[in-house]
Amino acid sequence: MIYFDNSATTFVSDSVRAKLMELSEDPVSANPGALHKLGNKAIELYEGIRKETAELLGARPDEIFFTSCATESANTAIKGYMSRNKRAGNAVISTRTEHKATLECLEYLAKLGYEIRYVKVGIDGKPLLESLEEELNKGDVALACFTLVNNETGSVLPFESIAKTIRSISPSTVIYLDCVQALGKMPVNLTAMGADMCSFSGHKIHSVKGNGVLYVRKGVRIDPLILGGGQQDGMRSGTQSAVLAGAFLAALKEVSEGIDGARVKASEINSYLRRELSARGAKILSPEDALPYVLNVSFDGFESETMLHCLEIYDIYVSTVSACSAKQKKVSYVLLEMGVDRKTAANAVRLSFSRYNTMDEAEEFIRHVDEIYEQFLVK
Ligand code: PLP
Repeated sequence: MIYFDNSATTFVSDSVRAKLMELSEDPVSANPGALHKLGNKAIELYEGIRKETAELLGARPDEIFFTSCATESANTAIKGYMSRNKRAGNAVISTRTEHKATLECLEYLAKLGYEIRYVKVGIDGKPLLESLEEELNKGDVALACFTLVNNETGSVLPFESIAKTIRSISPSTVIYLDCVQALGKMPVNLTAMGADMCSFSGHKIHSVKGNGVLYVRKGVRIDPLILGGGQQDGMRSGTQSAVLAGAFLAALKEVSEGIDGARVKASEINSYLRRELSARGAKILSPEDALPYVLNVSFDGFESETMLHCLEIYDIYVSTVSACSAKQKKVSYVLLEMGVDRKTAANAVRLSFSRYNTMDEAEEFIRHVDEIYEQFLVK
């Protein structure tokens, strides 16, 4: 099997699996809210995991909250900020290339009467600074939502210049940053970066599904999305799961330790596939300076889904548009927004890599692409 669909989800690593088992055992899995000594031990363990997670992300422990997924983190951050800070402004700035986790929250806010202003992006997927300035200059911007690494193309947001522009034109605007596809693939130090709220997802870094992280910078006030027993400083009610938080931490440690080696490997695979696929007439849609873990490519003569199923015959797994919306059979809204023509976008396939992929797999992939062209291309 060749699994080139790591932006959709990754497989669980051995160390995460071991950590899950370890943390599921009695008595460490007692309720961290319990008053007896098992409860004390459980909350100590949980807070220890939170502290280590914060350290690895360059944050304070009280800025880190465990959630069920990045979608929950995005909902909490975006809706929670606007709900708590009604006088911060009536406008939100973003792009139309965000993940649905953000876009649907913005739609929700629009229905409540907020004005959503979309900044244009270029063919490289990056927001155009003039467009950002124009939208900021209209004033009243409470919140700006961006993504550090686009899940469909690997396009990297020039966060420093975006943040600088926002801070200089509209200093009170709070910045939410989706860091899901960046984690473990490029350095992320939250304090140094200076975003106000960020989201992360465990299953994109070889943890299990069901765990995410929300970062909220100290001083930023938001309303919680999930109400109940007031766990996690009232920010996210529900009995804390040391098992899931610990799985996230184990995965984070592994990706952090191996970050440089994994990137070299991904770059090698990416460059090889770019070269070989271009030589075969395929169009590379990921920008040159994209993160090497994602390669979006349009195969002439094959609609995205046809290519996906042709590859599947050889036990090769890729994505069409992002998996969350793939079943709706739509052409990628991200590519269209970047200015890619509809026909090219309709033939786009996303290859996405992890530290487990090899050059042998890349070479085998190319051999099968040649076979697919020979067997299935209608001339
Ligand atoms: N943001 C980006 C950029 C993603 O790629 C994804 C998942 O595809 C999400 C958010 C949502 O993550 P989760 O599946 O943890 O809710």
